[in-house]
Amino acid sequence: MDYFPLFCKLEGRDCLLIGGGEIAERKARLLLEAGAKLTVNALKFNPQFICWQEQKQIVLVQSEFKTQLLDNKWLVIAATDCAKTNQEVSIAAENRRIFCNVVDSPKNASFIMPSIIDRSPIMVAVSSTGHAPVLARLLREKLEAMLPQHLGKLANYAGYLRNKVKQTYKTLTERRRFWEKLFMHDRLAQAIANNNSEQVETLTNELFNLSLDHRGEVVLVGAGPGDAGLLTLKGLQQIQQADIIVYDRLVSDEIMNLARRDAQRIFVGKRAGYHCVPQEQINQILLEQAKKGQRVVRLKGGDPFIFGRGGEELETLHNADIPFSVVPGITAASGCSAYSGIPLTHRDYAHSVRLITGHLKDGSHLDWQSLAAEKQTLVFYMGLSQAENISQQLIKHGMDINTPVAIVEQGTSTQQKVTTGLLGDLVKLAQYACSPSLIIVGPVVALREKLNWFSEH
Ligand code: SAH
Repeated sequence: MDYFPLFCKLEGRDCLLIGGGEIAERKARLLLEAGAKLTVNALKFNPQFICWQEQKQIVLVQSEFKTQLLDNKWLVIAATDCAKTNQEVSIAAENRRIFCNVVDSPKNASFIMPSIIDRSPIMVAVSSTGHAPVLARLLREKLEAMLPQHLGKLANYAGYLRNKVKQTYKTLTERRRFWEKLFMHDRLAQAIANNNSEQVETLTNELFNLSLDHRGEVVLVGAGPGDAGLLTLKGLQQIQQADIIVYDRLVSDEIMNLARRDAQRIFVGKRAGYHCVPQEQINQILLEQAKKGQRVVRLKGGDPFIFGRGGEELETLHNADIPFSVVPGITAASGCSAYSGIPLTHRDYAHSVRLITGHLKDGSHLDWQSLAAEKQTLVFYMGLSQAENISQQLIKHGMDINTPVAIVEQGTSTQQKVTTGLLGDLVKLAQYACSPSLIIVGPVVALREKLNWFSEH
């Protein structure tokens, strides 16, 4: 760390600015916003400076720089277009141990000014320590776009509620919960942004009553198929707020790295046909932790309601009266098809798409006749070990042996591998494929030749 970041209070404090041009004007504006008592010294001043002087906002000294101007100053900014003067100011300030910024010359400055995003009282400062100001500016623009304008009002409102929250909730955990609920409350944020004080009061009272609930809760979150960038914003918020994360084998390390560092992690890895932790036990873990008052995130690969047994886990919670919610995820069929250039319902080739489990418990029957029909795309989850059965049944029920098929292994990750061929060869194609894999069957697979954008394999 070359520079120590700090926010300093300038309100009512004497500061000196050297320079009367455009850049100096920008600096003056900032110092005035911070409430500094500003003296500006230059040979010539832009009209804005004269105007500020008339309004008694600043004091102007029209002269060469002289060191006496530094008397009683807390902070100095040298913003003239003369390098020699700037350096002179910097040396004089250094001798008197006054912090000095020199515009465009960080090496002569004892402090630098960051790019700022002002949502007062929330302030975000970004600096590249003088190495890449353009990068810092781009970052600032991104943050500007991300941080809603009403953030400042929200923070002020939180300040106003602080004492009440302290009195109402005795433990830190309870208070944290309350604040998280308040800051995540979209309607309340809107009401604050619109200055609708009546609605703000009603919603706040509701929140105070709601959070008396000491039960924990479970949020079922879909992590998507692999690429961490495919996690939803809501999913990310949930895993960052979780006390405990109960997760599967299909959840990538990249995603687990986004969780709060101090959250407890429980691995309940499941494999097709082999459950490391039996489903009943997973249900019990969720139940026990939620009963202890914990905020539990049950994180699953893909979408929790698509071959994810999410429904079963929620039933257990429902029976025990534990609050729960669900954040959907991008299911393997969507992720793998997008990342392999196979549009599942291209309208020239398919009017519907079927998501099918190939993991057929107790030999249950699929309606092969309807699956073999034309103008549709079939996506088999957990189908590798059933490749032979799948191809035989489809051909037997009339599907063309030359129908294109694809096997997508570890879809959307950097290890994604896609193998394409014809239905008649599915068994051969599946022979060396590894789990997790998806089998896609249908004419849309042929479009990959034109639409593949992600990887060579
Ligand atoms: N809930 C998950 C599916 C769980 S079933 C979802 O919505 O995606 C597990 C099966 O999903 C695997 O056997 C495999 O067929 C498929 N699958 C999950 N992630 C995958 C990936 N990244 N690439 C290919 N197939 C995947």
